[in-house]
Amino acid sequence: MTVAKPGAKSTTATTLQTTLLAPVSVSGIGVHSGLPATLTLHPAPAHHGIVFSRLGRAGEPDREILADVRAVTATDFATVLGDAKGPLCSTAEHVLSALRGLGIDNVVVEIDGPEAPIMDGSAADFIAAVDRAGIRTLEAPRKYIEVLKTIRVARKDGASGELAPYARGFRVEAEIDFSEPLIGRQSYALDVTADSFRREISRARTFGFMRDVARLWSAGYALGASFDNTLVISDNRVMNPEGVRFADEFVRHKVLDAVGDLALAGAPLLGVYRSVRGGHGLNHAVLSALMADPTAWRLVDPAPARRPRSVVGAMVEPLGVPASGLPAGLAVPAYGPSVS
Ligand SMILES: [Zn+2]
Repeated sequence: MTVAKPGAKSTTATTLQTTLLAPVSVSGIGVHSGLPATLTLHPAPAHHGIVFSRLGRAGEPDREILADVRAVTATDFATVLGDAKGPLCSTAEHVLSALRGLGIDNVVVEIDGPEAPIMDGSAADFIAAVDRAGIRTLEAPRKYIEVLKTIRVARKDGASGELAPYARGFRVEAEIDFSEPLIGRQSYALDVTADSFRREISRARTFGFMRDVARLWSAGYALGASFDNTLVISDNRVMNPEGVRFADEFVRHKVLDAVGDLALAGAPLLGVYRSVRGGHGLNHAVLSALMADPTAWRLVDPAPARRPRSVVGAMVEPLGVPASGLPAGLAVPAYGPSVS
């Protein structure tokens, strides 16, 4: 086991699994429910994955669910994880984005309410929490999901998304097009690494329109939304006194959401995700379509110094599958703590 605090430099650990060095908590309110919640990230062993654990009334673990594309129960204005008993955690996408963005493979996300706290509307507080805890590198190779062919979903409203092969790690390209000139058409593309995610994406906040507030409230959404956690747009201007953090903060937040929603693949992706006028529903639809096609992806273990192993379209490694690893020299995403 090797241990590296965020920012530590190393050249050897970028394909090993990670967890946290210690538990760490953040507290706030849910942007939709308005309910207070404390979210605690706990270290977990190799191959554990990201598991959400909901505490019951007595403060004991009540239900657990693996963060997986099949656990999505709703995508209206937020990504909701749940099971046959119902929703377990709403608005899971921002903490998932921070965990995937920083390359945390194994963690228990414990939550004492129905919705993850929105904090400032971005992933910044979850990033800060991981920084406080520190990252532990585990002696187990990380597996990646390599996209082998393009999977595309197009909708009648003009939204479309696709996952496609990409030779240089994980990339997200997003485009949005709003009638308000303040936003208009924005596009953003990024090769996602721990460093680029932290610097360019993690601070981009949720946004919403004042004109939608009454409708959202009557439907039970946005009850906790405020200038503290949402960029609010009205009459073609940002209402928040502090203004925007980036001129294109809106599309950067779409990238943040996509990284979080695609974390539900269960392993880091090697591929490019392209989203046009997308949202949580589209992200989920594209990832579901990919995972449903066993010829569209394979699980790869690009561990250095030995022949990579791969399995086409399966989460377990059956016997007799011929090894066909990544091309030599492929740069996998530098998710590990070794990259700052
Ligand atoms: Zn979001």
